[in-house]
Amino acid sequence: MEKLNEILSEIDERKEELLKFALKLISFKTPNPPAKNTLPAQKWLAAEMEKIGMDVEMVDVYPGEPDVVGILRGKGKGKTLAFNGHIDVAEVKEDEKWDFEPFKGFYDEKYLYGRGATDMKGGLASAFFALKVIAESGMELKHNVMMQSVIGEEAGEPGTKRLLEKGYKCDFAIIPEPNSLEVQGQGGVITFWIKIKSPEVYHDAVRHKMIHAGGGVAAANTIEKMCKIIEGMQELERYWGVMKRYPKMSPGANTINPSVIEGGRNPIFIPDECRIWYTAHFLPNEDVDDIKKEITQHVMNVAKADLWLKNHPPEITWGGESLVREKGEIFPSAHIDENNPYVRLLLQTRERVLGKKPEVSIWPSVSDAGWFSKFGIPSAICGPGKIEEAHIINEKVSIKELLDAAKLYAAYILNFNEKSW
Ligand SMILES: [Zn+2]
Repeated sequence: MEKLNEILSEIDERKEELLKFALKLISFKTPNPPAKNTLPAQKWLAAEMEKIGMDVEMVDVYPGEPDVVGILRGKGKGKTLAFNGHIDVAEVKEDEKWDFEPFKGFYDEKYLYGRGATDMKGGLASAFFALKVIAESGMELKHNVMMQSVIGEEAGEPGTKRLLEKGYKCDFAIIPEPNSLEVQGQGGVITFWIKIKSPEVYHDAVRHKMIHAGGGVAAANTIEKMCKIIEGMQELERYWGVMKRYPKMSPGANTINPSVIEGGRNPIFIPDECRIWYTAHFLPNEDVDDIKKEITQHVMNVAKADLWLKNHPPEITWGGESLVREKGEIFPSAHIDENNPYVRLLLQTRERVLGKKPEVSIWPSVSDAGWFSKFGIPSAICGPGKIEEAHIINEKVSIKELLDAAKLYAAYILNFNEKSW
């Protein structure tokens, strides 16, 4: 208890250091897209981890685009607590009217400003700073603490997924994404393309023979056929909203959004191909493979009821490992169980340090938390800042929340460390 109070007041005293650390992270230009720009930030962070005695590895996700994994090893075997944050930030477009240079952040009395302040270099800085203060206090830990700085999250790229595939496992993960330090799980997301393709290509002058009595040409305008699929998907979306529920999640949050549509050649052709890009949000207790089956079945049922589509069924392409590089992404869902011992300890710690009610809820967005679930590892999204302040012009984060986050993480590391899990 005494140790905890000492660490907490030290975090307050070293506030400027935390803010400067966050500003340094912001100063690395890591927008995604265009991506392929994280190496200098990752190298700097790796060196900072080494300075506090962590064993550090750089793990390439793409050539020259590594994740950084640092471990502060405890004595003995112990459990591993991980903090996982992404180093890439949302893109900044040329014509956005910022009041300051997005990658030259600053702070005033209340807020720290800059691209990534909220999502999520602020959270990453708070987590690292908590660990730094503990490591520098000379305290020896029983358990291990891992810091993962991953690439690619903003475009659904496999930074976290690769680490888990390569065996960088932990027993519990905290994802400091902006949620005002709630303790949350998430629903999942999968994007998919539906393609309708006609084997024949016609001049637009043939249209009347395709659609009027006596024309005798059994062909289709694939854009018009896609309208049937769109209507069908709206029906499925409504059905999900009406029939599926998850505690503490607003009903109907499981949407199926048609986000991009492409098709046709030019006005002298009957469009022989049409493609549509969908984003489906599903519930925390649903598995992505079941969602795929449900959607496929519904699309095929719609197709079966159409005289042309039944013989030319749509083709569905699922997910992908990057919105930019592969035009697709998947974020598995992350169910959160308040009776899980790691989650329970986080709720208790948060109640003691920040006086917040010990209850879990669901984040409205998606994060890499889903990958931990997919690999059977419990996790919680819990970070400083508000989702409404992520990705926006003049992005900022509350300094109080950054400090609260650092204190909560430090207290959690100490409490985690006291347990014989
Ligand atoms: Zn984020």
